[in-house]
Amino acid sequence: MTQHTCLWWESAPKPRSYRDKSLPAKTDVLVIGGGFTGTSAALQLAKHGAKVTLFEAQSIGYEASSRNGGQALSCLHHTLTETIHLHGKELAREMFLAAVEAANTVERIVTEEGIECDFIRCGSIEAAAKPAHFERLKREQEVLKETAGFDTLLVGKEKVREELGTDAYHGLLVNPRSGSVQPAKFVRGMAEAAERAGAGIHEGVRVKNIERRGSQMDGTRFKVQTEAGVIEAKEIILATNAWTGNLIPQFKMRVFPAESYIIATEPLNDELAEGLIRSNRVVYDTRSLLAYYRLSPERRMTWGGELTMKGVSPGWNIGALRNGMMRVFPELASARLDYYWGGTLALTLDENTHAGMVDGMWYSMAYVGHGVTLATYLGRQMANGILGKPVDNPFDNLKIPLVPPYRESAWFVTIGKLWNRFLDLFG
Ligand SMILES: Cc1cc2nc3c(=O)[nH]c(=O)nc-3n(C[C@H](O)[C@H](O)[C@H](O)COP(=O)(O)OP(=O)(O)OC[C@H]3O[C@@H](n4cnc5c(N)ncnc54)[C@H](O)[C@@H]3O)c2cc1C
Repeated sequence: MTQHTCLWWESAPKPRSYRDKSLPAKTDVLVIGGGFTGTSAALQLAKHGAKVTLFEAQSIGYEASSRNGGQALSCLHHTLTETIHLHGKELAREMFLAAVEAANTVERIVTEEGIECDFIRCGSIEAAAKPAHFERLKREQEVLKETAGFDTLLVGKEKVREELGTDAYHGLLVNPRSGSVQPAKFVRGMAEAAERAGAGIHEGVRVKNIERRGSQMDGTRFKVQTEAGVIEAKEIILATNAWTGNLIPQFKMRVFPAESYIIATEPLNDELAEGLIRSNRVVYDTRSLLAYYRLSPERRMTWGGELTMKGVSPGWNIGALRNGMMRVFPELASARLDYYWGGTLALTLDENTHAGMVDGMWYSMAYVGHGVTLATYLGRQMANGILGKPVDNPFDNLKIPLVPPYRESAWFVTIGKLWNRFLDLFG
């Protein structure tokens, strides 16, 4: 029987609890949200001696940060070619190099803090679903080299089987700097490291309202109401990703939640697993409605993406994921499916990452499937801004497009997915 729960929760040690502690009346920095963005920011601040408090509405990493595919990617959602088209060559180069540095930062934190989270620098594969997509990957390899001095490996159709045990693709682009991680272990490890360094972490504390009070004598500029009491803070970091619009009206109709779902098979025997993904890399394809997959540390095939949707039956989503998996690896037809789960990520209409300041508060959000590395990196950059250290944030000041009809239900996420499906079939 497929368990409707997250593999990463089940394969991590029991998490430490940060509940039922009394809240401080004042703090220098309040971090709202305990995913990668928030825990990384809290860690950096505490390590540099700031008095930092983190409020998480549920438990550490409970949302996207513990439920994701664990692909620690050394690139952006948009290709560098697209990023240049959108932002110009210089800014695009800075954005891409920030993503490369983001993957380095994950490795550095894991090593320095001794976080046991199965991090490996395995490399990622972008797999061309159509012949024209491979032509695009060839050009992208040149652009990466010319613009960012970044080396990748191009694999033609005839050599795909040296990397993946399938004939489904028309060629591959390998990014050797990406990695993989057990995300629940990683986010919880960052929270533990932050607490060791002196951060006050509180779970089950949902922020309801933020009042900006102007400059008080003691410097506390914000009065923050939670379900558990009130706190005053000099600085605030909004690390609430898909829910940022609930706290900040300016983002209400610009950042929206979108669901993604994953299945995991039973553990595969070594020979079968190595035959499917030969170097244990993480993989995603070039379709608009893409699949992302990898082997877990215990060699389960984990498969996410495809035409899965909120509001349909779990059976529909599991079927869509299984069909996708079998299209690429038919030998998994009889593999038992042990886990199925979903999570919520933040999207904006421009599919860019956004980080900067709003109403005197720092924010960082919308990593479009690249938050393992980018959220960790940008959370740290927000902390650096508060600490007066150099900040690397090429995503600052990007306009976020408005989605006028958006209210509570992101109906257009479903429309968008169906449109992407159409493009994949006929585009
Ligand atoms: C199924 C799935 C697969 C994915 N796969 C990948 C992948 O393979 N690689 C990759 O890089 N990225 C992936 N992502 C995206 C990645 O997980 C996210 O970009 C990343 O986790 C974002 O981190 P975050 O800390 O900003 O947000 P979150 O992890 O969503 O954390 C935000 C936190 O804020 C808390 N919060 C919200 N409102 C309040 C409030 N008012 N008061 C207090 N707390 C509040 C929430 O409870 C939550 O814990 C995936 C996402 C999903 C859902």
